[in-house]
Amino acid sequence: REQKRGKLRDVQAVTRDGTPIELLANIEFASEIPGALDNGAEGVGLFRTEFLYLAAAEEPTEEGQLKGYRDAIRHLAGRPLTIRTLDLGADKLSGLAGVGEDDHERNPFLGCRSIRLSLQNLPMFKRQLRAILRASAEGPVRIMFPLISGVMELRQAKMVLNDVIEDLDDEGIAFDRSVEVGMMIEVPSVAIQARCFAEEVDFFSIGTNDLVQYTLAVDRCNERVAPLYSACHPAVLMLLKEVIRAADRTGIPVSLCGEMAGQPEYVMLLLGLGLRRFSMTPPAIPEVKQVLRAVSIEQCRRVAGKASRFDSDREVLNFVRDELSRVL
Ligand code: PEP
Ligand code: MG
Repeated sequence: REQKRGKLRDVQAVTRDGTPIELLANIEFASEIPGALDNGAEGVGLFRTEFLYLAAAEEPTEEGQLKGYRDAIRHLAGRPLTIRTLDLGADKLSGLAGVGEDDHERNPFLGCRSIRLSLQNLPMFKRQLRAILRASAEGPVRIMFPLISGVMELRQAKMVLNDVIEDLDDEGIAFDRSVEVGMMIEVPSVAIQARCFAEEVDFFSIGTNDLVQYTLAVDRCNERVAPLYSACHPAVLMLLKEVIRAADRTGIPVSLCGEMAGQPEYVMLLLGLGLRRFSMTPPAIPEVKQVLRAVSIEQCRRVAGKASRFDSDREVLNFVRDELSRVL
């Protein structure tokens, strides 16, 4: 198995017909990067920075965060690092005073989490953006805002970022002026309005873990409703199709960084919907690469076309599993 993984690391992520596919890693700590590269990752598509906050009793300082981001950049040696701003909330609680204390919220998943929390704690948000921008002087960094649910919210986040850029300029501190700014697509309102958002960011990353829970009204952490939680629900597939199409039309890259990206049974479906950039937990990379190397885009388009005609997630799942078993 070890040998097979090594071999897969060294071959290109291209489909049978030669279409290159980008395989990126989801990480929580910079120290995971060497292992991710060993699995064949071409960069980091999702750095979940909240773990810097969860690991500490206090908010990490600007310098402390900068160190974490610089470590990641050093390990990546020129490959891209996508840093997601703080995403604390119901699924990732924090003991920090006033940050992620969801006890008072009846519906924390619908409450003050993620970008909403950052926008309500501007000094904290700015400290993080300063650290990210300062790190960008040392390697390719992309900034990504999580859980955007409306266009004004995105504009507000970008405005805060611009304030921080002005401050750094005033202070004569170096950063990458062309740093890419993107957003996650995790809320149905945004998936539906994807065309409008595509005009305002440099890239999309689809967070299916949340998109599925919000589309299907199924708490991603509640075992009692776990059978209802399905990434291949036809309604979710319709949203994915719309988002990928909106990104393609506008000419911005779109990745998918939810668990779905690392599940072999969905590879053909996602390729067929037009996805070319996948970000996943590093151990999933070799198997995903193995699947995509075995298929052609034309074949995947047929799979996606057929899958989108089913009425239930069960039928879709049975179908894609069946298709996968034919190619592996
Ligand atoms: C997602 O929601 O799909 C995602 C990647 O973010 P997280 O799992 O950290 O909420
Ligand atoms: Mg999410």
